[in-house]
Amino acid sequence: MREPGNDVVSHCARWIVPVDRPAVERGCVVVQGERILAVGAAEQVATGRRVEYGDAVITPGFVNAHAHLEFSGLSAPLGERGMAFPDWIMNVLEYRRAPEFDARGATFAGLKESLRTGTTTLGDIASCLPSLLLEEPPADLDVTSFIELIGLSEARAAAQAERLAEHLAKHSDDARVRRGISPHAPYTIRPALLEAAVPASAGARVPLAFHLAESREELQLLATGDGPMVDYMRTLGAWDPTAIALGTRPLDYLRTLTKVHRALVIHGNYLADDEIDYLAAHAERLTTVYCPRTHDYFNHPPHPLPKLLERGASVALGTDGRCTNPDLSLLEEMRHTARQFPMLSPERILQLGTLDGAQALGLAAEVGSLTPGKRADFVVFQEGACESEPCAALLQGPATIGRVYHRGRNVADFQT
Ligand SMILES: [Zn+2]
Repeated sequence: MREPGNDVVSHCARWIVPVDRPAVERGCVVVQGERILAVGAAEQVATGRRVEYGDAVITPGFVNAHAHLEFSGLSAPLGERGMAFPDWIMNVLEYRRAPEFDARGATFAGLKESLRTGTTTLGDIASCLPSLLLEEPPADLDVTSFIELIGLSEARAAAQAERLAEHLAKHSDDARVRRGISPHAPYTIRPALLEAAVPASAGARVPLAFHLAESREELQLLATGDGPMVDYMRTLGAWDPTAIALGTRPLDYLRTLTKVHRALVIHGNYLADDEIDYLAAHAERLTTVYCPRTHDYFNHPPHPLPKLLERGASVALGTDGRCTNPDLSLLEEMRHTARQFPMLSPERILQLGTLDGAQALGLAAEVGSLTPGKRADFVVFQEGACESEPCAALLQGPATIGRVYHRGRNVADFQT
């Protein structure tokens, strides 16, 4: 190993879980500045200043592939568990009109909460203030800020296309923030607007997020142009019967999404078998984002996560927003996934919440695993986290976060 500079620190613990290879017992993550220099057994890699965490576990920082931070001011999800999806959307619209709604304050509160719960990279859907994080990049977390587009009528869709062009013309010099595009969902997006967003994503090489196959009501709207979702859109005066061709289904949208730079298919609760096969065949470009506790909030049938993984589709995890979730902890999403799908190994679930999320956002070369050359984003779990099975202990046991590091800096410290 080369001579360490005086900014080299070895973070050593009972277990290091790199995610891209097996856990290392009594190992170290060696950091120089913002980057990981080495990972391995302590006697082989430790150098520079040494920090000992004892009987602790170190994992990569978590990657939350899908959040709506502007709802982070909520202390509990909107509506009630198991409610009909269109009724819940009504609650969202009402909340956004309420005087206490503060998109800016909530976004920064949500970033802080994410960091304290181990998330160091996040994809945020920004609806009200799409340029906020481009103008005020967060100090301690990497964010992809997706501008949300909503427009079913021809006039509204044209205005949104202009808004998108404005967003893409802006860019931040700060490497911690990137741009993304999020046409909202099939029932709020005129297909022509989605078609306009596709070359924009491909041209600017930015990811595109699209809510798809989320509810039965959405499938009914696409298939027959009626049902509770259409009734709800009519109530708002937002339904345009000419906008969407009848007899369509999520697969039609997946075909369009393969033409973007990289797409995040948000939810996918009701994907059919041939759609899962299609996602598997395009795993390099399309990632389904499972939002475990949001899925649970609506009492949907079990998510097709095991089938997606079995067939080789790419999947990541998201918290969605506090409008459907009690908090923004990706660790709790992984724990929920472990309870829902005991057939999945804890190691596989930890990968969903780290490396697979990085892949979804196009950042797998930079973050998502403890790999030399990548950024030094990692979580140190408190001493006593486990004895023999580090991942199982984190997901099934009471392990708590002790410290969070972002780009080599300690940004959250709960050590006593
Ligand atoms: Zn969402």
